[in-house]
Amino acid sequence: MTTKPTAAVVGAGIAGLASSIALRRAGWSVVVLEKSQFRSEVGAAISIPPNATRVLSRWRFDFDKCGAVPNVASRFYHAATGETVMYEEYEDIEETMGFQSWSLHRVDLHRGLKGIATLEDGGLGEKVDGADVWSGQSRLIEDFTGKPSEVRPMGRSIYRWLVSMDDVLADPDLRPIYDGKLPGFKSWRDPVKEILWVSYTCRGGKVLNNAVVHPTQAGEGDDDLWHSHASRDQVFAMLENFHPAVPMRIVNLASEDGIKVHHLFKRPALTSFVNGRAVVIGDAAHVMMPTHAAGAAIAIESTAALEVLMAGVEAGDHTTLAKQLALFDKLRIPRCNFTMLASNAGPAWLAVPGVEQEIRRFYHGPLPPAGAMPWGHQFREALFNHDAYKAAEEALAESVA
Ligand SMILES: Cc1cc2nc3c(=O)[nH]c(=O)nc-3n(C[C@H](O)[C@H](O)[C@H](O)COP(=O)(O)OP(=O)(O)OC[C@H]3O[C@@H](n4cnc5c(N)ncnc54)[C@H](O)[C@@H]3O)c2cc1C
Repeated sequence: MTTKPTAAVVGAGIAGLASSIALRRAGWSVVVLEKSQFRSEVGAAISIPPNATRVLSRWRFDFDKCGAVPNVASRFYHAATGETVMYEEYEDIEETMGFQSWSLHRVDLHRGLKGIATLEDGGLGEKVDGADVWSGQSRLIEDFTGKPSEVRPMGRSIYRWLVSMDDVLADPDLRPIYDGKLPGFKSWRDPVKEILWVSYTCRGGKVLNNAVVHPTQAGEGDDDLWHSHASRDQVFAMLENFHPAVPMRIVNLASEDGIKVHHLFKRPALTSFVNGRAVVIGDAAHVMMPTHAAGAAIAIESTAALEVLMAGVEAGDHTTLAKQLALFDKLRIPRCNFTMLASNAGPAWLAVPGVEQEIRRFYHGPLPPAGAMPWGHQFREALFNHDAYKAAEEALAESVA
């Protein structure tokens, strides 16, 4: 009789749930330790491009049941003039990349993953020693890297709020922006104050998600990591240079306490995601700005690699485990660090001094040209047209040849 190898997964966020699904599919027994009881989730949506929906589809994730809305167009407006500076449709993304690009409410994505992970409630409410998996005080990451934590606030924060699409469509000025348009990003960018307001629908098109990335203001977001309150006046003051044609009334549609603000963090790229028999996945490995809406997607990719590489490992076989984890690093360090460094550099990315050199420390594949826009065709090709299963299977075959 053989015993299954066992993994402990710390944290049941998107990365933890996806890891536990992947490892179970690889034949492992999994224990999930999550400090919270999930009474609340972050009230915001998330876009999941084909590099990750490929993985979720293999797991039979039910996109329809989770209210997923296709994300097949991206429009950037100049915030000060209201003019369109970029518009791209990618309705053929499923045809060309094999899988759809979807937007979901985070709670719905989480619930869908939790259903597949068949997580026992017993795993919740278990805090593993260490303050938080990725925050500045994290002992877990310090233990993992053997260095003091280098996570720092970026000086950038996000206002986020959800509004009903019925309310948006009832407004004669807002209606033309969304009604009858292909679903996807509608974004307003103020390059002077470096503000980016991104909106898109989720929950079957019934809810509009809004996120305004902006320079952190004194005192905001300090009460709570995720759930600090921001007033409408705070948001209006931040958007003071925005053209009147910009849909400012969407701010008014937020409920009185409906706008939340949280800080964004960054950390230098890790040179390895592996330490002995431990591996970091998700924001613990590569916390990033949401420039390319890619943090969760790249984490889900990593779990597909884990699924392939861990399938051949037997309980107690630490030699094979070490070999497969070395392959994991070889596959994932270039992809994850490229995505993180490009995201953290913001839309101007290659114009930011030192960014290209830093990316080239880890990643030697083709780079989108300077000026390539987030979710524009060059970045879609670089970030989304990737089959993590195939890459892992090929690396594995090569390693045994
Ligand atoms: C505004 C914004 C928009 C974004 N949009 C997108 C997008 O459109 N597409 C995309 O792919 N990505 C997006 N991202 C990135 C994405 O949200 C993250 O990459 C993803 O949620 C990270 O998941 P995670 O599981 O690694 O971390 P988390 O979601 O932070 O989960 C960590 C879990 O670990 C638990 N935990 C922490 N410490 C302990 C402990 N000591 N013991 C036990 N449990 C613990 C926590 O309670 C939590 O549940 C966005 C990010 C932001 C900020």
